[in-house]
Formats: sequence, structure tokens, C-alpha cells
Amino acid sequence: MTLPRFTTALVFTLSAAFFVFTFAHRGFAQTVSVNSPVAASAGVSPDAPADQADAKAPKLEHFDPDLVDKTLDPCNDFYKYSCSKWLAANPIPPDQVYWSTGSGLQLWNENLLRETLEAASANTSNRDAVHQKIGDYWAACMDESGINAAGLKPLQTELDRIAALKSKKDITLEIARLHHLFPGAWQYGDNESSGAFFGFTGQQDYDDASKVVAQIDQGGLSLPNRDYYIKTDDKSKELLKKYHAHVQKMFVLAGESEAQADADAGTVIELETGMAQAQMDNVTRRDPKNVNNKMSLAQVRELAPSIDWDAYLKAVKAPASEHFIVTSPTFFRGEEKLIENHPLEHWQAYMRWQAIHRAAPLLSKAIVDENFDFFARALAGAEQQRPRWRRCVTAADRDLGDALGQACVDRAFPPQSRARTIQMVHSIEAALSSDVQSLSWMSAATKEQAIVKLKGIEDKIGYPARWHDYSTVTITRDSYLNNVAQATSFEFERWVAKIGKPVDRAEWTMTPPTINAYYDPQLNTINFPAGILQPPFFDSTKDDAVNYGAIGMVIGHEIIHGFDDQGRKFDAQGNLRDWWTAEDGKQYDERGKCISDEYTQDVPDAGSGVKQNGLLTQGEDTADNGGIRLALTALEVSLKQQGKSLDDKGPDGWTYRQRFFLSNAYSWCANVRPEIARLVVTTDPHSLPIFRIDNVISNMPEFEQAFGCKAGQHMVRANACRVW
Ligand SMILES: [Zn+2]
Repeated sequence: MTLPRFTTALVFTLSAAFFVFTFAHRGFAQTVSVNSPVAASAGVSPDAPADQADAKAPKLEHFDPDLVDKTLDPCNDFYKYSCSKWLAANPIPPDQVYWSTGSGLQLWNENLLRETLEAASANTSNRDAVHQKIGDYWAACMDESGINAAGLKPLQTELDRIAALKSKKDITLEIARLHHLFPGAWQYGDNESSGAFFGFTGQQDYDDASKVVAQIDQGGLSLPNRDYYIKTDDKSKELLKKYHAHVQKMFVLAGESEAQADADAGTVIELETGMAQAQMDNVTRRDPKNVNNKMSLAQVRELAPSIDWDAYLKAVKAPASEHFIVTSPTFFRGEEKLIENHPLEHWQAYMRWQAIHRAAPLLSKAIVDENFDFFARALAGAEQQRPRWRRCVTAADRDLGDALGQACVDRAFPPQSRARTIQMVHSIEAALSSDVQSLSWMSAATKEQAIVKLKGIEDKIGYPARWHDYSTVTITRDSYLNNVAQATSFEFERWVAKIGKPVDRAEWTMTPPTINAYYDPQLNTINFPAGILQPPFFDSTKDDAVNYGAIGMVIGHEIIHGFDDQGRKFDAQGNLRDWWTAEDGKQYDERGKCISDEYTQDVPDAGSGVKQNGLLTQGEDTADNGGIRLALTALEVSLKQQGKSLDDKGPDGWTYRQRFFLSNAYSWCANVRPEIARLVVTTDPHSLPIFRIDNVISNMPEFEQAFGCKAGQHMVRANACRVW
């Protein structure tokens, strides 16, 4: 919810409020993002009220080999071969920006949460504390007429406070205030957008993973990342113009005159652009060495003296920190100049904007609609808003995730699913162990260290061992904005309070219903929330070939994150420590470069001239390539135990090897709006679904063998890459 760690997700995550992708909630954890913002079942009658129509039972998608388009050649474009029939039958609903085989599951999970929330919202006297909180949160969020009637009132105290500031010295306490109310990342999850002015949290120390220290991160933006302010192509300039019009409209909705709003919008964009220019870019940030800048409090004070750091730390109740990690000192030098050069009135406009913008989804319809119009329609391509119930489910999951998560786990995650997943995880870890042992390019010394790290990975499946205690969070039925502020303050302070304490290894950064997974290099854990352990990813009704192709690849992907270009820099304990011999490191980098060169490619779906940056996606692409290979190896072992081989015919007339690849592709079939393709290419470390299939298999002789492909065909790459 707050700041970056280097966790890496499985999939891009289109975050709830605005359909903007997040992938790594905290820093360096790696996810597989399968997450979609996805809403709304297809085929809703347009005449029915959205909320009602959408309530119909969602459909879980099960792997179905009849969906293969046999008129196409699998060796030419395997993604199309596997997905085109499904894609044609499943257009993107108007309120979605992305629609995939996992979208039915998203809706399924949301319906489950909705039932829980609705039941809890009955205002009875015999509810326990948890049900009171989630139930009243739901009631307040769904009370659209009450929210409309209140207008801007819930935010007025904040706006008045900002208007009353007397000098630039007062800015600091208002920053702390904004960080409590709107830590930032809950809107975007992306590092660059964390918090007004900057981001602050408790974070494991890079050099000593047993400690938690204070981390101060770049931030301050409202658009998805710095490129949106800096790029000068026509499309970017047009978007920035639309952004100006949007900021102006929002100021008018907040009571300013047209002329004042226009001037203030110009100021906001000037300040945000200044911060964007000072920010470290997202490729540079991928290397943990570049953000591991330790400073003393005295150095922090000196770095940006316009911010009263002592007052800030006191206001956010930060415990003493051994030192501070300042991810990007250059950013703070730039921000310091900005603060010096602009008068208080400019900063008041900026802070007023930050408050209105970050609170927008919680306010009245006119503001919600205008916010949608720019952030979802112009930026992401959505045509209409998700029904309110879905927005409220997403918000409740974000704000009271552990309370809701318990309900989800009880109803949708039987112990058998957990047991089978754990068994797959162990077999895939064993596959990496044999892979490491067999490598010709790695020395015995590095192999030994790699095995230590692999053995040190902690597998977290389904849900956390301990749930958060929300007893200090006050939730009432009468103010949605206040409820969100209470919950976000709680979460912000919870992370800040970790500073100076021993690291909490039980922490998860995804809630149980999340359809995603992540690796956390500083905890050396792989994490699979219950949400993703459902069809089409995990299907208890299907054979091993189908499951290893889908969730098996996801498991392999997360394990490989511990050994991708970023993860390999952390050791078994999560310390940033080089355990590679120099020669092995060089060998690794050559193989990594093959991947990043391969994935630096045109993205026709995102518009002409748009190119993917293989340096941004290298970690995810490495995880995709290695992950699928590990899953296939583990499947082979499992079949052998059953007296079968990969090339035996399984159900439906396909060999197990073919079923594995078909199931893998099927789990990634997705229709994606061009605006989202563009957004992903700019901000997201994950490749688009088509590349996650076609690039990967074109690197694999195992795929050639499965479908009898020949050299020269599209799915057979002359210079195939392989790291793991
Ligand atoms: Zn990943």
C-alpha cells in the first residue's frame, strides 16, 4: 500500500480505482501479474441496470482444447493458434480495459467478497468486530446518494487546512497529513506515483535483511510515471494537454473559477513535470544497487532542507532509524530546488490537487465521473465505469483485505488445493535444483551458493499465517472518505512502525483473493494468494499436464525471480550480496542480454513505432522463460512416476507435452485495449500476453518437438535465448 520493495509480481495489475497497472506493491518483490482490472461479465444486457445485470453468476474458465483453431499453424503463431477462438468469443466489456481467461475468476472472486460484505452490512447488534468493520465499510461505500449529497464536504477540512498555510515551513506537516490519508500507492501501486512530494515507509535494509530501516522514495506524480510528463511525441503531448484540461475541470468542481483553475492546472503540471525530470527512470531503479543509498538523518536534512524532516518523522510517528535509505538523492535535490523556486501559493495549488485527485474516487458522482473520464477513458481506454459494487469490493479488499480474506479462504480454498499446490511447488523447486547442477556455464562454487539460496526459499501458499488486527481502525456507516482515510492511515503507520524492529517474515503484500503471485527477494519467499489457485490457473478437475502448464509455469516463474538479473543479487537471507564468481556473473549477463535484446521489439498493438524496452522487462521475461521450462521438467517427473512419458497421448487426443503448452497459452489469452498496451510498455516490467507465449516458446526446442516445428518457422528462433 505504501512504498516500493523489490517484490516482483506475476502479472500486470490493473489497479482497481483507475485501471492502472501495478506490479510490485513494495519495492523489489516480483509478481507474475495475471491481474487484470477486469470487470463485468460479458453479455450484460445494456438495458438492465448495471449493478443488477452484473450480479449474474460469473463463469470460471476451464482449459478446453476444442478452442484450438486447427486451421492455423501452431508453428507460425502459437498464441493465435491457442487463443484466437477464445479471443473472438470474449470481447472486452465496455467497462474493462483488458479481458482474459482469468477475468471470469476475477469476477468470481469479487462475487464471493460481495456476498460476504452484503451479509455483514446488515446493521444488527450481534455482529463481531470484524463483520461490523467490513459491513459498515460496504454500506458507506455503496451509499451513492449520501455521498452525492455530501458533495465536497468530506474533503473540506483538508482543503481548508491547505488554504490556511502561512509559509513554506508549514508544507512539511501537510505532507505528513497527505501521506496518512493518501499514501499514494493504493491508486497506482507504481513506485513513481507514491505519495505527494515523496514516499516514506519502513523497509528491510538491503545490506542486512534482518533489520527494518526508514526508506524515503521519489514520488509526487499523478500520471503513471515520469515518461508521461517528459516524452515529446505527438501522442504524449496530446495526453498531457488532456491532463491539463482534466486538472482544470477538477479544480472547477472543487469551486474554483475557470480562470483560476486553468492557472492552477498549469502550476500543477509544471511542478509535477519538475519532479518527473528529477526522478530516476524505471530501468535504473531495477538495479537494487542504484537505490541503496544510505544516509544519516543529518545528511537527509542537508539533502532537502526545505522539508523539516524532524517534524515529518514526528508527525508520522517514525521510530528512530539506524540510517535512511534514500532511493534517489537526485530526486530530492531537484525537489529542493523546486520548493525553493516556487512560492507557497504554487504548493498550495499542488497540494489541493493532490488531495482532490487522490480522494476523487471517494467523492460525489461529478468528481468520480470526471476522474474516470481522464484516468480510465483517456489513459486506459475504458468506455464506461465498472458498476459501483465492483469498485466497492476492490476498495474493501484494498483497505480491509485481511478481514475479507478470511472469508474468501474459508469458502474457496479447500485444504486439498493447498496440498496439491505445495506438492507442485516442491517438484518445481527440485527441477531448478537439477537444472543448476547440470549447467555447463556455472562454476561449482556458484552452484553451491545457488542451491543454498534455492533451499532457503520459503513457500507461502494461500494466505498469511497471521491476520492483521484492525481493532484500532474506526469504520462507520456515514463517511466513505473517512473510512478509507482511517484504513490507509492504519496501513501507512503499520509499515512505518516496523522501523527499528526485527523483520516480520509473516508479512504478505497481496491479499488472499488477489489473482497474482510474487517473489520477495528480501524475504526470499514465493507467495501464491488463494485467489490465483483456481481455474484456469489451478484446476482440481484437470490432469497434471494442464496444471503444470498453467499454475506450474506461474510457480516456476516466481522461483526464477530469485535468480533473475535482479533476484540473483540477493542472497538466501535476502541481503544484497554478490554470491557469484566474477566469471559466472559475466556468463549470466551475456545470457540476460540475449533475453533483453530479444524482447526489445515492436509492439504493433500499442500503436505504430511503439517499442518494448527489453531492459525493463528482462527480469519478468527471464522468469517466464525459466519458469515454463521448470514446470515442464516437473511434469515429466510426475508422468514418469505414473509410468507415462510426455509424448504419450493424454485426454482429447493430444500428447501431454502438447496439452502442457496449450494449457499454458490458454491461461494467458487476453484481449487488451491499445491504450493499455501503450501504458504497459511504458510503465510495466511485464511483457504483453502474446509475447509471454510466443517469445517464450520460440526459445524452446521442447516446443518444436511438441508440434513438429522446423527451422525457419516463426516459432523457431534462430538465436534462441536461455538463462535457466
Ligand atoms: Zn514476475
